[in-house]
Amino acid sequence: EALLKFDDVHVHYGAIHALKGVSFSVPAGKIVTLIGCNGAGKSTTLRAASGMLKVSSGKISFLGHEVTAGRPDKLVSLGICHVPEGRGIFANLTVAENLSLGCFIRKDGESIKKDRDFVLDLFPRLKERLWQNAGTLSGGEQQMLAIARALMARPKILFLDEPSLGLSPQNIEKIFNTIVKINEQGTTIFLV
Ligand code: ATP
Repeated sequence: EALLKFDDVHVHYGAIHALKGVSFSVPAGKIVTLIGCNGAGKSTTLRAASGMLKVSSGKISFLGHEVTAGRPDKLVSLGICHVPEGRGIFANLTVAENLSLGCFIRKDGESIKKDRDFVLDLFPRLKERLWQNAGTLSGGEQQMLAIARALMARPKILFLDEPSLGLSPQNIEKIFNTIVKINEQGTTIFLV
């Protein structure tokens, strides 16, 4: 069953025609990877899928709902969560506060606590640094926090935009092992 589906999708940035008829689907439960050279349109594909960009033609659907630009919050409640390139964590907030912001739309207090324990077990580094400002974390730790925060929204699908960018080989291995673990817990992964 396709969780996410692109059907002949075109995206323009003004005069730049960045996506020219993209079609593919991401089956539920899988890890799907998009590979391409610089400027090929990988990040654009993710941004369109999470409702941050308007498509000029074609259709994106998630679980049968059409993905339209403008209401990314709606898509989060449907189960899409996007970890952008460059991570987008809040540098002046603590690790704990960043994690809380990841689940601000949820009302199920008890399971939020469980999910928080789960992500802190996945990333013990973050557990030791809950009260540290996120801006003072190392690059690898910031990437861990970005993924951990996304998981706090309990997504059905997780979009990861170059999570290995700028990390050491050891950290890259850790991040990828963790991505596999997250997938084994039932979250579909779409990775650039
Ligand atoms: P990389 O591997 O270098 O990150 P990418 O495959 O993710 O590349 P995109 O970031 O999706 O590539 O960019 C696709 C094309 O769209 C590029 O030619 C880029 O210059 C252009 N582009 C991206 N964002 C904008 C923007 N905000 N305004 C104008 N052009 C843009």
